[in-house]
Amino acid sequence: MTARIPSADVLVVGAGLAGLHTATGLAQRGHDVVLAERRPDLGGTVRTTGIFVRRTLEDFHLPPALLGPAVRRMVLYPPSHRRPVVLDSPRDEYRVGDMRGLYRDGAEQAAAAGVRILLGTRYLGRADGRHVLEGPDGTVEVGARYVVGADGARSGVARELGLDRNRELLVGAEHVFAVPRRDVVPAFHCVVDPRLAPGYLAWVLDDGEHAHVGVAGYARRFPHGMHHALRQFAATAPGLRGTTRPEHVEHRAGPIPVGGLLRRIASPDGLLVGDAAGAVSPLTAGGLDPCLRQSAHAVDVLDQALRTGRPDPLRRYDGAALRTQFRGRIAMRRGLGLVRTPAVAEAGVAALRTPPGRAAARRILFGDGSFPDPVPVPALVR
Ligand SMILES: Cc1cc2nc3c(=O)[nH]c(=O)nc-3n(C[C@H](O)[C@H](O)[C@H](O)COP(=O)(O)OP(=O)(O)OC[C@H]3O[C@@H](n4cnc5c(N)ncnc54)[C@H](O)[C@@H]3O)c2cc1C
Repeated sequence: MTARIPSADVLVVGAGLAGLHTATGLAQRGHDVVLAERRPDLGGTVRTTGIFVRRTLEDFHLPPALLGPAVRRMVLYPPSHRRPVVLDSPRDEYRVGDMRGLYRDGAEQAAAAGVRILLGTRYLGRADGRHVLEGPDGTVEVGARYVVGADGARSGVARELGLDRNRELLVGAEHVFAVPRRDVVPAFHCVVDPRLAPGYLAWVLDDGEHAHVGVAGYARRFPHGMHHALRQFAATAPGLRGTTRPEHVEHRAGPIPVGGLLRRIASPDGLLVGDAAGAVSPLTAGGLDPCLRQSAHAVDVLDQALRTGRPDPLRRYDGAALRTQFRGRIAMRRGLGLVRTPAVAEAGVAALRTPPGRAAARRILFGDGSFPDPVPVPALVR
């Protein structure tokens, strides 16, 4: 049997960071919001390392108790691990979030703002102008003026609305485990090795509380598959002195869109945010800062559309315009994708040892570049 739940102004699909922030922002402006998430528990599967960059920490409030120690050191290694490039920043550059805690905290804030949260509920599509969801008790229909696709890299809402979809994806996987307290400088170690991470990087982030050991790359280019590469990397990974990897570790994995922000991310019926919109830095593959910035923009646009009763403001939610600001990073991603042999990777890291190379690396890794701030939506004419 199909149940109907009372209509809402907006149906948000997906309770990752993008969906939670969009739903809460809209509810705080007085709109009626339903948030549907297929995971039955937001404290369950996590698909991200959870590294937040300085610019996010400066611009958004994240509960300090849900953030790990600050990381100021970045170490870049060639495949041989010899003569790594060590970069130290005078500022706190990264912190790893307790993602389960952040999702739960985000859901509490959403509920407090009045969002109706449906967990264990999957978005199926539209039928007769209503949105169809599959919940724990069967099919549910909800009528909503707008739908927000915050449903990740392989967005079903994008497909339903006929919007652009991510075509260039990396896949990433990591092991996470607690490390013993010891005298260690929290550091982010990255290895450029196309055999272990074809087209991207292998990493160890040890902030003195937890270690994240991961690889990411183009799925088809892992010689023996991603999980084999991760096991191989974990056996030789740098930066783990003084720790032993426990027998049981947490596994995280997921797709990462790196083709840059999609062009068509809104229609008169709704819009996309976060990974669904391709809002991930093509070079660093960081998507958490873009999630938060783009959600704020989506809230402005939808708020205005709901207040005026017209979908016109959604036309200004234009991926093509913002995409031009990603040009440099898209070009650098192509460059990283061209590193196909260990010899080229060795030469690339050697270039980073020179003063101009170090300066360029510092700009990318410690700079203020992030997701471009969208042009603000003009205030409503009353
Ligand atoms: C291994 C890995 C490590 C990463 N590390 C970092 C990092 O350290 N720092 C960083 O900035 N970025 C990182 N990223 C990228 C970053 O995690 C993502 O860009 C970001 O989490 C995207 O958030 P989102 O809310 O858009 O999507 P998601 O977090 O993917 O949320 C989408 C939600 O939609 C739900 N959903 C999907 N389909 C449906 C449906 N049909 N019905 C209902 N619900 C649905 C999903 O269950 C999910 O909860 C990493 C990515 C990976 C894969």
